[in-house]
Amino acid sequence: MSTTGFAMRHHTHTVTVSHADSMVRIGGSHPVVVQSMTNTDTVDALGTALQVKELAMAGSELVRITVNSPEAAAAVPYIREQLDKMGVYVPLVGDFHYNGHKLLTDYPDCAQALSKYRINPGNVGKGAKKDAQFAQMIEVAAKYDKPVRIGVNWGSLDQSVLARIMDDNAQRSAPWTAQQVMTEALIASALESAQAAQDIGLAENKIVISCKVSNVQDLVAVYQQLAQRCHYALHLGLTEAGMGSKGIVASTAALSVLLQQGIGDTIRVSLTPEPNGSRSTEVVVAQEILQTMGFRQFTPMVVACPGCGRTTSTVFQELASDIQTYLREQMPVWKNQYAGVEGMTVAVMGCVVNGPGESKHANIGISLPGTGETPAAPVFVDGERTVTLKGDNIAVEFQAIVQAYIEKNYGMS
Ligand code: SF4
Repeated sequence: MSTTGFAMRHHTHTVTVSHADSMVRIGGSHPVVVQSMTNTDTVDALGTALQVKELAMAGSELVRITVNSPEAAAAVPYIREQLDKMGVYVPLVGDFHYNGHKLLTDYPDCAQALSKYRINPGNVGKGAKKDAQFAQMIEVAAKYDKPVRIGVNWGSLDQSVLARIMDDNAQRSAPWTAQQVMTEALIASALESAQAAQDIGLAENKIVISCKVSNVQDLVAVYQQLAQRCHYALHLGLTEAGMGSKGIVASTAALSVLLQQGIGDTIRVSLTPEPNGSRSTEVVVAQEILQTMGFRQFTPMVVACPGCGRTTSTVFQELASDIQTYLREQMPVWKNQYAGVEGMTVAVMGCVVNGPGESKHANIGISLPGTGETPAAPVFVDGERTVTLKGDNIAVEFQAIVQAYIEKNYGMS
């Protein structure tokens, strides 16, 4: 264990996923990678390209798109081209099920435009065709030098593997529980498929694996075992996490336990978007899991008190929300202009009880007036009280102070 409380990172092979000059490394000692997936119809190439751009701008380092039909496969090179024209070089991952072997073979431009393929061994074909169709996909990956993710999902578990493990279990003097059988079937499907891919000619540093389930405790159990049994780079994600706070909490609970144990090289938070909600919420949540745990820094963090009976107006909630949004929206530009700005903290506090104290610990803090307090908001910069803001323009003036602080402290010239 390190002194920070994190476990040593589980050793995995480094898998490089690249497009043009954009190179993402998954595994080894590289930072845990954030990835996401579109929910547009891939046939709508422009709509998909725009959502990929949105996800990339939010911080997704890889973006997966569904490739489920000849029309979708035909659209992939055009999506790549549109993204390149927009200056968005995020590597694209193709998600294949059932007909991936045909699509990757019949649409070589699609196979080449993608930077990685996701293959679900439970959905590559049945019976005698299964191995041949899996091999066909791996051969395309080897031909174009693309990495793959062997992504097992308990909802589409390879039934032949499950049946074999159930048969073996029936012979045991002390049979496993149904839970243990499922865990073993998931892991066996992933590891046997990965070995098969290696036997066909794909190197171990071209293989990422995942075994997704929708229950937090099951996910933790599965990945703890996976980490003991292999050194493939591991993609973490709780499948079907759900909507809103339930999806966020479930994903955070599962991923945090594993990341704290040094398990996981790339994460995706599978949130069901609210109607008309932003798809990029899943990227923000993934980043916040990594940043609040101290693994990576993506954007300046806002520390805000929860508010209580001492704050009867919404001014401070609005200021906290506005400044958080402002900071996040600036990051695509700031990260190239202001090195280290992502480590900054800003405190927005509701009253004098904890306001000045918390504000002093942040790079910049503001303590708003609580009910009955003098309508003035002292601002602290690097622990020192600097100005006191008053009147209706506090939000704008505070934002200007934050911007000036960033230019002065993180400007590269
Ligand atoms: S800082 Fe003030 S407003 Fe915020 S929770 Fe504490 S007492 Fe309430």
